Amino acid sequence: MAHINILDSYVYNRIAAGEVVERPFSVVKELVENSIDAGADNITVEIIDGGVTSIKVMDNGEGIEKSQLKSAVLPHATSKIKTVEDLDDILTLGFRGEALASIVSVAKVKISSKPANQEFGAEINAEGGVIGDTIDSAIKNGTEITVNNLFFNTPARQKFLKSFKGEENDVTNLLSRFILGNPEISFKYVSNGKVIYQSFGDGIESAMLSIYGTGVLNDCFFIDTEKNGIKVKGYIGKHHYTKPNRTYQSIFLNGRYIINSTISSAISNAYGAYLMKRQYPFYVLDITVPAETVDVNVHPNKTDVRFSNNQVIYGTLYSIISKVLDGSSEAVSIIKEKTEKSQIFTNENYNDYERSYSEIKPLKKEYFVLNDISVDQKNKAQTSFTQIESKIEENQKPCVDIFAENKKFIEELYSQKNNNAIQNKEIIDSFTELKFLAQALSTYLIFEDGKDLYFIDQHAAHERILFDEYIEKVNSSNISIQPLLVPYVFSVNVQENEFLNEKMPYFIELGFEIEQFGYNTFKISAIPTNIVDIDIKKFIDDVLSDMNLLRTENIPTILRERVASKACRAAIKSGDKLDDKDIKTLITLMKGNLGLKCPHGRPVAVKITRLEIDKWFKRIV
Ligand code: ADP
Ligand code: MG
Repeated sequence: MAHINILDSYVYNRIAAGEVVERPFSVVKELVENSIDAGADNITVEIIDGGVTSIKVMDNGEGIEKSQLKSAVLPHATSKIKTVEDLDDILTLGFRGEALASIVSVAKVKISSKPANQEFGAEINAEGGVIGDTIDSAIKNGTEITVNNLFFNTPARQKFLKSFKGEENDVTNLLSRFILGNPEISFKYVSNGKVIYQSFGDGIESAMLSIYGTGVLNDCFFIDTEKNGIKVKGYIGKHHYTKPNRTYQSIFLNGRYIINSTISSAISNAYGAYLMKRQYPFYVLDITVPAETVDVNVHPNKTDVRFSNNQVIYGTLYSIISKVLDGSSEAVSIIKEKTEKSQIFTNENYNDYERSYSEIKPLKKEYFVLNDISVDQKNKAQTSFTQIESKIEENQKPCVDIFAENKKFIEELYSQKNNNAIQNKEIIDSFTELKFLAQALSTYLIFEDGKDLYFIDQHAAHERILFDEYIEKVNSSNISIQPLLVPYVFSVNVQENEFLNEKMPYFIELGFEIEQFGYNTFKISAIPTNIVDIDIKKFIDDVLSDMNLLRTENIPTILRERVASKACRAAIKSGDKLDDKDIKTLITLMKGNLGLKCPHGRPVAVKITRLEIDKWFKRIV
């Protein structure tokens, strides 16, 4: 008969650790949430090697009393819940009393703390779950927790870690969300000694700037409204301000960063018509709902939530965002001017803001008072939601895993490439004397050579011609450039910033005069002459949307061609009517140069043989 063992706490914690502490970023998340719960308005996070080697979180919160230090790391030790009833209206971020115990069981941890009313600080050290004695510590008011050698005693878990860089990226993403979600807290985030983010706790505008750089506010609507008892406040991108991936979407529900498909599909659908393929809306939104209408305890890391009524949430968000975008009369009451005098960082004065923490006034964290949804409102909402229910269904595809999505996209690209290779057999190989017949559907040029018909995709052809010329010029170092009348200045996030810096030589080689222009901002001041018609925004968006693919491309010629082909694509205007001269030029340029594909592998020309046409009309069977 099997013997039932009661796990001792040491074993239990190592199991629990798997749930809460999966990766460095989850440790950072737990520690920062604890700091926020402790009322800190000044939090510093320092990591080394993506957090694998070291994570340090310092705060100026209420501290842990010397006598309590040891119990803080015990499982189910929490100062936040005393009775079951507390669970229902808990507003703090952490409440399971598991985080510290779990972290301590899989790392080497030092916790130093000093509550304001205690004369001296105290600290404990713990290693792999073994807790040392409490000793005195010279520390200012607040708490400092250092987590070294994460998973040193769980090699299996270590194996699942990404590269240092990959882990760092996840911590960076997390920190950006903390900063945006807690604009009244001043954050400093340092990775391998380099300051990545610094926010000043002086409001959402300033927080937005510290993450997204200058310019972002002009591209957004600031909205502040309440509907069906749901408060929605924050920034949404204007119609044209679309982004190449979902890393620019942040939702904070009752003060906590969440990823939730009901909300994200409501917003995406509201943007629907304004988005092209592979464009994503930008938003940073604070959403406040009555605590009893949401279950926050569904996910071990608490990143998703469950609503008691999904339709109310979906409908409210959809309706608010649509009204703003569609410019309905109600939009006026939703969009708010930010009236309070705000300090905008510009590149010039950014450095002035490197002021010391002591100058920053402590701000009290306040939670919204929640309104109840009245029965009448509920009913009203219910009816209008039935129309969109079907929409919810079709959009329930999870919008969560950016990485999986990118991977899928890359795979699609490859399979497209392979398919094209097969389909293109029918493409003509040589061009003799062609007679131009017509332009059809503003897209196709139709030719005949007396025997057969040829359909040419004018955009693909044009793109191909541009591309060939371009690559030839690059290869012979013969690129001429043209300064822009108005330089194109654009903001990026940290990952994109790093990518652009890393790949900058390629852009320069291709004739783009591009430089870093202050914090997370770039300036393009000249472009290659051969693609003067380029839509730079489209080009940059396209490059950034394929950032992961381009980043991993290690063969310089391929990378260069990929970027060049994106540039050519952005230089072609679709739907243009060609005049005779254009057509002539196109034919001359293409002479003897067909059987080609556009740089993305699409065919340029397709032949329809007389035989085929005769078959249509049953002249031949
Ligand atoms: P929980 O946050 O779920 O209560 P944790 O294991 O994360 O559980 O933390 C245990 C306890 O340690 C908290 O309830 C809190 O009392 C204390 N604590 C942890 N971090 C801090 C901090 N930075 N400042 C003050 N108290 C803290
Ligand atoms: Mg906690």
